[in-house]
Amino acid sequence: MVLNDATLVLNKHWVPVDFTTVLDALCKLYAGSARAIKPDDYSVHDFESWAQLKVAEGAPCVRTATIAIPVPEVIILAHYGRVPDRGLAFSRGNLFRRDRYTCQYCGRRPGTAELTIDHVSPRSRGGISSWTNCVVACLKCNSRKANRTAAEAGLVLRRQPAKPEWSPRLVVARIPCKASWEKFVSDAYWNVELKE
Ligand SMILES: [Zn+2]
Repeated sequence: MVLNDATLVLNKHWVPVDFTTVLDALCKLYAGSARAIKPDDYSVHDFESWAQLKVAEGAPCVRTATIAIPVPEVIILAHYGRVPDRGLAFSRGNLFRRDRYTCQYCGRRPGTAELTIDHVSPRSRGGISSWTNCVVACLKCNSRKANRTAAEAGLVLRRQPAKPEWSPRLVVARIPCKASWEKFVSDAYWNVELKE
């Protein structure tokens, strides 16, 4: 059902902040709280001009008794300008992604089955589980380090762990990215200052 498909939601500064359903996107478009972006040429449309667009051959559309409206795959909110503050959850999966599935001591990428999470400052010494105290380590390095600090174990951290920056890409990390979204969430597109 096309109405349940996902639509990318940009804030008024064109920053991807969420996704919603096509149905909700059409409602927002109709209510005037959002406009639709045509990804091909970045043109911005209100409901009226969007409804007049021709549906491309084979492109998804919503049909009423009299008209066929192209599915809005990207909408831009009229008023909302912030980026979500929910940030990135501290989780095993996100930690693995932050460290690119790479042991932060030896630099190897042996695969997830051989990767563990290491507490830089050991738990036995009060080290907590946090973005800045946890890194991905291979089994070998982790067992070598054991309950010691890296220095004590003769290991060198390849880079200081930090909380990942919020990124537009995080918005679509949870669902498959549509081709039409790619340019709005790509790093190249966002190689610009996002702050107001
Ligand atoms: Zn290692």
